[in-house]
Amino acid sequence: MRRAVCPGSFDPVTHGHLDIIERAANLFDEVVVAVGVNASKRRLFTAEERMGMLEQACAGFPNVRVAGFSGLLTTFCQEHDIHAIVKGLRAVSDFDYELQMAQMNSSLTDVETVFVPTSPEYSFLASSLVKEVASFGGDVSAFVPGFVLARLTARLDEVAARPQDA
Ligand code: ADP
Repeated sequence: MRRAVCPGSFDPVTHGHLDIIERAANLFDEVVVAVGVNASKRRLFTAEERMGMLEQACAGFPNVRVAGFSGLLTTFCQEHDIHAIVKGLRAVSDFDYELQMAQMNSSLTDVETVFVPTSPEYSFLASSLVKEVASFGGDVSAFVPGFVLARLTARLDEVAARPQDA
């Protein structure tokens, strides 16, 4: 069984992520979408919420499953018998860091990183930018599934209604 992992924070999942996950699912027998659950990072959505949205978004891909991970990705790969990490590359700016990470990961364990070039229509897409644009009232409906848009809008409204921290 050829099994790959698509790691990330997915805060929240975008069409850019789903494009890479779908293409990975066409290349491998099984794809595990690994959601970083590192509690120290500030996220708009909890790990459970991010995983739930991914499960819904990936429901149409029979060979894709969603899991949480903390700690080293290479340890996760060893525990799940995974020998390939699939990463989307958006721009040259992604490459330096991703190359360094791929080389580090392959030196830690027997894992290959496979870079998939982003589809041109998603090359500018990042969860952080989607959140920023949406928080200022911009229309991000083209970039995330409809149910994610509804969750995002509701969460941003909640955050905006909270009293500001001193
Ligand atoms: P992180 O917060 O760890 O950078 P993200 O959740 O933003 O992770 O993204 C996870 C992975 O999904 C990225 O490392 C990248 O490989 C891929 N990705 C994200 N957005 C896109 C996009 N627009 N096109 C292609 N790949 C993407």
